[in-house]
Amino acid sequence: MTRIDPLFEDLLAQKAARGLRRTLRPAALAGDGRIVRGGREMLDFSSNDYLGLARHPLLAERAGEWAARMGSGSGASRLVTGTLDAHLELEHKIARFKGTEAALIFASGWQANAAVIPALLAAVPGAVVLTDRLNHASMHAGCNVAGIRQTRFPHNDMAALEKLLAESAEAPARMILTESVFSMDGDRADMAELARLAREYDAVLYVDEAHATGVLGPKGAGLSATVPGAVDVTMGTFSKALGGFGAYVAGSRVLIDYLVNASSGFIYTTAPPPAVLGAIDAALDLVPDMDAQRAHLAALGDRLREGLTARGFDVGPSSTQIVPAVIGEAEDALALSARLEEAGMIASAIRPPTVPKGTSRLRLALRATHGEEDVDALLAAIGDRA
Ligand code: PMP
Repeated sequence: MTRIDPLFEDLLAQKAARGLRRTLRPAALAGDGRIVRGGREMLDFSSNDYLGLARHPLLAERAGEWAARMGSGSGASRLVTGTLDAHLELEHKIARFKGTEAALIFASGWQANAAVIPALLAAVPGAVVLTDRLNHASMHAGCNVAGIRQTRFPHNDMAALEKLLAESAEAPARMILTESVFSMDGDRADMAELARLAREYDAVLYVDEAHATGVLGPKGAGLSATVPGAVDVTMGTFSKALGGFGAYVAGSRVLIDYLVNASSGFIYTTAPPPAVLGAIDAALDLVPDMDAQRAHLAALGDRLREGLTARGFDVGPSSTQIVPAVIGEAEDALALSARLEEAGMIASAIRPPTVPKGTSRLRLALRATHGEEDVDALLAAIGDRA
């Protein structure tokens, strides 16, 4: 025991008393919408491997090839000696995929948001930041690093956002922060209206495409690609539909050059290694041609929403591969999740503070490798809402 350990014990006991103590449980992703946990193969509705690429042989093969050819580590940060040809070539490929002038690779989506937002805000002191209330924790982290107070608008409420934009006309700059697909509700931002507002009020538009990249938009390029030129800064992760790891920020050439010079979370971290780059490179070869898988995933989403609604569940405004089954109280959501696990299905319960109080839910994430029969099995196991 160190001197500080009793403190941790105390804090953990407080969490346990509120039913909030968490533990890590190992699982192994399988390629067919399943996962192996505790030696048992189960249907998986909790991973973000939306296109089933995390077990695609081409990704693992190229990751191995690039590691064998270029080494297991990149040796240094990007501005020192860590930039390989592979980084620059892959960044061009990402920019082509996103339809932007340039792109920059980050170690993770969390790090991208936490590193890019403060760099942007440093460029415009006094900027007012308008944030969707349901934005991901990593965007809040970026604002916290910058030491600014965000002005939150009600989720996806474009009228409220417009009012805030009109009220902040005197600010030196305005920045709108949003996700394009919201991670817990599976609904979409109104990209056309966001584009109009950003243009009309001269605001910077920053969009997190973590859950849209690979899944939505032309050739899976995300929803920012549906409003060409309107999104100033897009970020997304390679760790969900693209089946790998790491993240990107895409935008104008000068934006990317500025980040290379001003984003501490880019400058002071070791460059992503060749194996990680190889998997991303392979995913980008596959994703544009996966329209059939995207259509199948969308149809599975419709099937699941219809089935849940027929069984009395509120699925909120979901319109994507992420479908919540809103339960209400945390204990009830946990009990249903446990019952599904007994039945051989992983469907995680999400509770406050991740979602607002009274909206505890199962967050169901579909994969293109699921079949209709998997969705039907899930619906049968869930049964009717009590
Ligand atoms: N943004 C959103 C909306 C997310 O859901 C996540 C992942 N949970 C991230 C960013 C972070 O991405 P990563 O997992 O690559 O760190």
